[in-house]
Amino acid sequence: RSMAAYLLALLALPATAQAADAQVGARVEALLARMTLQEKIGQLNQLTGRAATGPQAAGRASQLADIRAGKVGSLLNVHGAAETRAMQALALQSRLKIPLLFGLDVIHGYKTVFPVPLGEAASWDLEAIEAAARIAAREAAAAGVHWTFAPMVDVGRDPRWGRVMEGAGEDPYLGAQIARARVRGFQGTKLGATDRVMATAKHFAAYGAAIAGRDYNAVDLSPQQLHEVYLPPFKAALDAGVATFMNSFNTLNGVPATGSSYLQRDILKGDWRFDGFVVSDWASVKEMVAHGYASDLGDAAVKAVNAGSDMDMEGEAYVNHLEQAVRDGKVDVKAVDDAVRRVLAKKFELGLFEDPYRFTDARRERAVLADASHRAVARDVAQKSIVLLKNERRTLPLAAGPRRIAVIGPLADSRRDLEGGWVVEDVRADVVTILAGIRARARGADVTYAQACAPGCASDAGFAQAVATAAEADVIVLAVGETWDMSGEAKSRTDLGLPGRQNELFAALKGTGRPIVAVLLGGRPLIFEDIANRADAILFAWFPGSEGGNAVANVLFGDYNPSARLPIGFPRSVGQLPLPYAQYATGRPVTDERDIVYRSAYIDSPNTPRYAFGHGLSYTTFAYSNLALDRPTLANGQTATLSFDLANTGPVVGTEIAQLYVRDLVASTVRPLKELKGFRKVTLRPGERQRVTFKIERDTLAFFDSRLRWVAEPGEFHLMVGSAADDIRLRGALRLREE
Ligand code: BGC
Repeated sequence: RSMAAYLLALLALPATAQAADAQVGARVEALLARMTLQEKIGQLNQLTGRAATGPQAAGRASQLADIRAGKVGSLLNVHGAAETRAMQALALQSRLKIPLLFGLDVIHGYKTVFPVPLGEAASWDLEAIEAAARIAAREAAAAGVHWTFAPMVDVGRDPRWGRVMEGAGEDPYLGAQIARARVRGFQGTKLGATDRVMATAKHFAAYGAAIAGRDYNAVDLSPQQLHEVYLPPFKAALDAGVATFMNSFNTLNGVPATGSSYLQRDILKGDWRFDGFVVSDWASVKEMVAHGYASDLGDAAVKAVNAGSDMDMEGEAYVNHLEQAVRDGKVDVKAVDDAVRRVLAKKFELGLFEDPYRFTDARRERAVLADASHRAVARDVAQKSIVLLKNERRTLPLAAGPRRIAVIGPLADSRRDLEGGWVVEDVRADVVTILAGIRARARGADVTYAQACAPGCASDAGFAQAVATAAEADVIVLAVGETWDMSGEAKSRTDLGLPGRQNELFAALKGTGRPIVAVLLGGRPLIFEDIANRADAILFAWFPGSEGGNAVANVLFGDYNPSARLPIGFPRSVGQLPLPYAQYATGRPVTDERDIVYRSAYIDSPNTPRYAFGHGLSYTTFAYSNLALDRPTLANGQTATLSFDLANTGPVVGTEIAQLYVRDLVASTVRPLKELKGFRKVTLRPGERQRVTFKIERDTLAFFDSRLRWVAEPGEFHLMVGSAADDIRLRGALRLREE
């Protein structure tokens, strides 16, 4: 497209977008005016599709009748062009022929499986993350899906909570960038394209802060933590145009999120002016009864809708009780209308009233799901997500030429474990295992294999044979870790160690004296102190997806130089948790009159993590130098530019992720010692040097103060640039001027 045409299109955009909005608004009003109260409530009812066979079959007939009667607005867990088409045909038999919305948890791929979201986040690569979401959307949309319940943008600071796997880690800044990339990837810039799906920012809000990391547990948070840590990724998703929000199972300071008008009405639809709709989490309306917040299902329906929960997922509270609640005057029909408007607007924007079958083309489905180019992207994202945690004596990359490589371990040839949790359908036949990947890349090396124990590693019966195999080799590649079903929803753990007897397996292999490269899989930070201390090299590969084995092999052999960084720190022990890098200063150390020093410390462990947020090694080295700041003092409306030289000082091409951290030295509330405020991913050839810059504005320095406002207070700020939260290479200072 020529520049002129591009500029013209830009100029035309606002007018067309506004006109389109107005048109949707008018169509929504016209339809709403024709709807009975019962039909309105139907639009707010979302059910999981009941299968024709199996335990749900009994409920199927009445569900189909409800769809025909216009009592269902959306189905989840129904996908595939044929099945969605059949259900849509039923909805079109209803009086007003309002099409259904099909929602599904497309979390890290539909057919092509990408790394689990926490793994993708380790790439810190916004383009790659967006590309993964775009392909997931393309495949899902071809299979009739309109709407994914992703991204999960919950900040997760406690790896006991199994759902850290589904998020972007511990940091609000990184989490916000990734939230934006994922929303853009799923949705594109405008709803209605048949190769995109609506996205959902979930779980609103603070679900990740469950006390003691126990899933679904209560959350008790200061307003500062809520606004500074947990809300920014949601705000970023909103700014990227996310179509829907999902509320959450937890209480926040005593109020279930699903019944919280503070969250949904004051913040989301009030301050933030969100005009899409909020779906409840699975039966979370109903769970308000179990919480002791609603007396019965009818009361739960009243409290949820009044608090701004628009659609009831599988709670059957709205469909059964809202009509009566309106008649009783407990719910104003205006609240129902508002919710219905929001849902209908999305159906119009998706183009479903023009063509309810536009996402159900079986030929397109076949073609898109067979598109081999998706695999290349999955491999690219997977290799960008693998973190090199340790590399002694240049154990990696594995040397070229004939060698003997022993591939050992319960996860080495497992397909299912490479996929991770939340796959739509088990497509393990498509997965390249670590063993298969190594065999394909080994280039003349002699590859032997012993499983040693099954995933979970309950028995050591196979250890002797594994040790015998390993003893013959020049190098051992040991694949261990969590199994795919140990992280995710309802997968909280109190022990983050390797399951079963995997540590014993490592010790037995260590006895051979051969160098050991540990390849660890997991959906969360794990604790593996013996391996951390005694393995020669360690890769953390998360659950890397369909192309995981090829990605691991590319990193092992140096075809890809690792560039990933931990998006969440790895502790030394569970007792340290939670352990975000953004710690606060305490009043300690202090020394008393007898010269005894008192610290905020443990008597049996350092305060530091095993591997810090931002940590990740490369096969090359980088030098940072010549930090400069274009102005020492910042006034309102100004931008300061921090710059420095980054050089590749090692032997091969490599990618560094340079990180900017800020500390506000003295403020009206005590500030963290470090907060991430920027990062740059830079690829350099050996010997190459580049000037890298970060922009700093007043907003970069702001925080949520004790009077509940975002402020940037005048004074001094320390700026730290480095390679990880615990590896600061350059320091500067900036003063924010009094206005
Ligand atoms: C989860 C959500 C998910 C929903 C629908 C719930 O249990 O918390 O994240 O989107 O189920 O599957």
